[in-house]
Amino acid sequence: MNNVRIAELAWPEYDARVKDGQTMVLLPIGALEQHGHHMSMNPDVLLPTAIAEKVAEQIGALVAPAIAYGYKSQQKSGGGNHMPGTTSLDGITLTNTIKDILKEFARHGVRNVVMINGHFENSMFITEGVDLAIRELKWEGIRDFSVVILSYWDYVNEDTIREIYPYGFPGWAVEHGGVLETSLMLHLHPHLVDMSKVVDQEPATFPPYDFFPVKPEWTPCSGCLSSAKPASAQKGKLLFEVCVNGIADQLRVAFK
Ligand SMILES: [Zn+2]
Repeated sequence: MNNVRIAELAWPEYDARVKDGQTMVLLPIGALEQHGHHMSMNPDVLLPTAIAEKVAEQIGALVAPAIAYGYKSQQKSGGGNHMPGTTSLDGITLTNTIKDILKEFARHGVRNVVMINGHFENSMFITEGVDLAIRELKWEGIRDFSVVILSYWDYVNEDTIREIYPYGFPGWAVEHGGVLETSLMLHLHPHLVDMSKVVDQEPATFPPYDFFPVKPEWTPCSGCLSSAKPASAQKGKLLFEVCVNGIADQLRVAFK
């Protein structure tokens, strides 16, 4: 099996793979963000990276080192940026980081990039970084650079949701530190999860508005927005396969 990790290649090998625009590059984007008492702070980096590497093996793509910091955690989707450990970028910093990296790939000859998001709050800043990169590349005469933006959880289909959440799906927003991420981590990086420390709680509820500065009392004490108690490595395996296969199938045709 070819090594799919760009950072582990010597430059001539990388150059040969990308200089004619023939190889797709996958770029995972995560966050350093608390994920409860029971889990490490890096699932938003590790999960899209693992998915990207498996997809890349299947479709002959390469994977760039993940962007390990993301946009500020929001209270109703990530517990909030006031939480200890959570370490975030301003939107403009993330946008510019993405723009700079994309323009570098374009300089190397890459023409198709896939942004694999692992942190909900990153979404529109990824879009903005991509938009600015494409605009500036056009000014420089590069008009055939294209980008797919996706979040891996969007590939969890209805059938899988019914199987993973037989008691009812709480919605992706309150999944922070919940069954999805914990199950995937149990499957991929079990040593970073301690199920004995899961705080079993009802899904968090919020008013239909955001409030700034945040009211810390809105965030459950655990930092999670729903309980990870029903998580399992078996569910993680199913989720991983459904995401990898769904993304690989889409990417085989996305740039055609
Ligand atoms: Zn997360």
